[in-house]
Amino acid sequence: RYGTFGGALPDNNRGSVVAKIIGNNVMHFKEFNPQVKMWVFEETVNGRPLTELINTQHENVKYLPGIKLPRNVIAEPNLAKAAQDATILIFVLPHQFVRGACKQLKGHIMPGCKAISLIKGLDTDTAGLNLLSNVISNSLDIDVSVLSGANIANEVAQEKFCETTIGYRNRHNGQLFYELFNTPYFRVSIVNDPNGVEMCGALKNVVAVGAGIVDGLGLGDNTKAAIIRIGLMEMIKFAKLLDPSVKDSTFYESCGVADVITSCAGGRNRRVAKAFAETGKPLDKLEKEMLHGQKLQGTSTCKELIAYLRDRRIEDE
Ligand code: NAD
Ligand code: 13P
Ligand code: CA
Repeated sequence: RYGTFGGALPDNNRGSVVAKIIGNNVMHFKEFNPQVKMWVFEETVNGRPLTELINTQHENVKYLPGIKLPRNVIAEPNLAKAAQDATILIFVLPHQFVRGACKQLKGHIMPGCKAISLIKGLDTDTAGLNLLSNVISNSLDIDVSVLSGANIANEVAQEKFCETTIGYRNRHNGQLFYELFNTPYFRVSIVNDPNGVEMCGALKNVVAVGAGIVDGLGLGDNTKAAIIRIGLMEMIKFAKLLDPSVKDSTFYESCGVADVITSCAGGRNRRVAKAFAETGKPLDKLEKEMLHGQKLQGTSTCKELIAYLRDRRIEDE
């Protein structure tokens, strides 16, 4: 793609790719309803509502062009309506929109509903940093598992082999989500360390921004390898600062070292940070110019982390 490992393809988004996997998987297991409702933030594309385009062309023409979605995936612009009959909620949206989505869902979900979050980011409020799974869990009063891994969306969309990691609190739910997501090309491992899995996904974006700056400055592969190694060690240290019970072994899973590597090679955070180092243009301008409506996560996570470290006067570490 844009990194060292391939040719150029447009960036794709994760929600539609995951809807494709799940749409196919639910057909194979009796315990799942065969229809998958996909909440889509409504936009007008070529003069028509995006949900209407998805439901007639079975393709997310804006965010996942060129890939057909299974016909049992139904796009729905109203979030409460999309969720009304669901006992499983899958959260895949840029982290800045999570609190708004939870507000719309409150009071409209089924009893016994469970959730899984695929979001790579952190939440900040006046009290400090929060895990997004906790934000979801606290606002909706449900169990929330986490899925994160080396999963650049357009490669997954093309069914190129990758691994991913599910972190569960409730073993039964972890097993259920394994069945929902696992395929021969999207190989799931499940671990009982949801906080470790989630922090990997948020923190690796910061390392990817560093790798992009190294590339933009033309510093070479040895420097980038150093950023990756030191970055991974700092991820472990920081994750343990937030939650001392996080396991070292989680960082050897797909969500850890593998996601750091793929993000530092082919991710959007790396690519936009590279352009930032080369041009000096503001990041929000580059995000608009380069990502066509997609969102950067790593740059805002950098800001959130540095504020946290400064507050505690441990920035030098
Ligand atoms: P994205 O960067 O493509 O962002 C665009 C999406 O945001 C669109 O689906 C759009 O409908 C939605 N959106 C825009 N405004 C909105 C609003 N006000 N409220 C709700 N939604 C709105 O998104 P993405 O790449 O799918 O990323 C979602 C999450 O998945 C992120 O946490 C990301 O880190 C993670 N992730 C992405 C990839 C990838 O390769 N793209 C891979 C793994 C994980
Ligand atoms: P970017 O958001 O930097 O593209 O990373 C995608 C990702 O999380 C790959 O696993
Ligand atoms: Ca963030």
